[in-house]
Amino acid sequence: NEILIETRNLKVYFQKGGLFSKKSFVKAVDDVTIQIRKGEILGLVGESGSGKTTLGRTTIGLQAPTSGQVIYYDSKGTPHEITPKKINKDIRRKLQMVYQDPFSSIDPYMKVYDALRQPLYYAGVKDPAEATEIIHKAFDEVGLPYDLLSNFVFQLSGGQRQRVAIARALMLNPEYLVADEPVTMLDASLKGLIVDDLRKINAERGISILFITHELPIAKVISHRIAIMYLGKIVEIGPTKKVIENPLHPYTQALLQAYPRLDPSLRDKMIKVNVRELELVVPKSGCRFHPRCPFVMDRCRAEEPALKEVEPGHFVACYLY
Ligand code: SF4
Repeated sequence: NEILIETRNLKVYFQKGGLFSKKSFVKAVDDVTIQIRKGEILGLVGESGSGKTTLGRTTIGLQAPTSGQVIYYDSKGTPHEITPKKINKDIRRKLQMVYQDPFSSIDPYMKVYDALRQPLYYAGVKDPAEATEIIHKAFDEVGLPYDLLSNFVFQLSGGQRQRVAIARALMLNPEYLVADEPVTMLDASLKGLIVDDLRKINAERGISILFITHELPIAKVISHRIAIMYLGKIVEIGPTKKVIENPLHPYTQALLQAYPRLDPSLRDKMIKVNVRELELVVPKSGCRFHPRCPFVMDRCRAEEPALKEVEPGHFVACYLY
């Protein structure tokens, strides 16, 4: 269980407000220390606004930390600090991202081949024959036919777009992939196929994946471990089976309750918190979940709980434990 990427007391704050209004900070990521291990899929689950995308982007050097560090360990175990300025070209290639809507920033009238050729060119693959070979290999891995390469980007279906995006990330031979809500915009049957692709890539190539989603049931099928994020903090993390079968944090319990198709024996264990009603506002002190928590105690309003290991590998930040 070697570590590939580690965050140490990572904080990413954004300023909001401006000249004529009071300035304040959005604490998108607030003191997060986590490890992504070599060859694992870590599901990062939380509602929108919980900071999961910012955390993902910061782990690959697309976003600068306000404080704290992101460390990447190379094959010899040597640590390298990752920031947008410090990351070198070779490491940048190894850390890739797949977005929810991968082609929103690409000219829809571009040929698929060119959309793939470009990043290879910038990564130093100038020979067209070599580029084509790499693109074909990546297409084989995600099960796409080569004819698609001569289509325009706008002609791709949702599922094809996401597969092309995964192929594009794979071409650069990454060690780590941040998949940010990659199946959110797809219908149920396609979700399963993309999840299978990612699982296969993880198993065959040993690529570590940070799988970001707001859907706990999807994280459950794909991840080896699950981390639950709430308002910039990791509130629970552990092996998938333990987090799903024995959710400890009241917020995790609330997330599970929000999915009615879940196993009834699990549902019984759950408490009634309507996740949709949760206000995404960080309280001034104490546990971030306390305004909504049915188990709130005096201590919860005063001090913020730290992550604590409750059973082997299963951590929770809550005073109930
Ligand atoms: Fe609820 Fe207190 Fe646990 Fe926070 S620390 S989740 S308020 S019981």
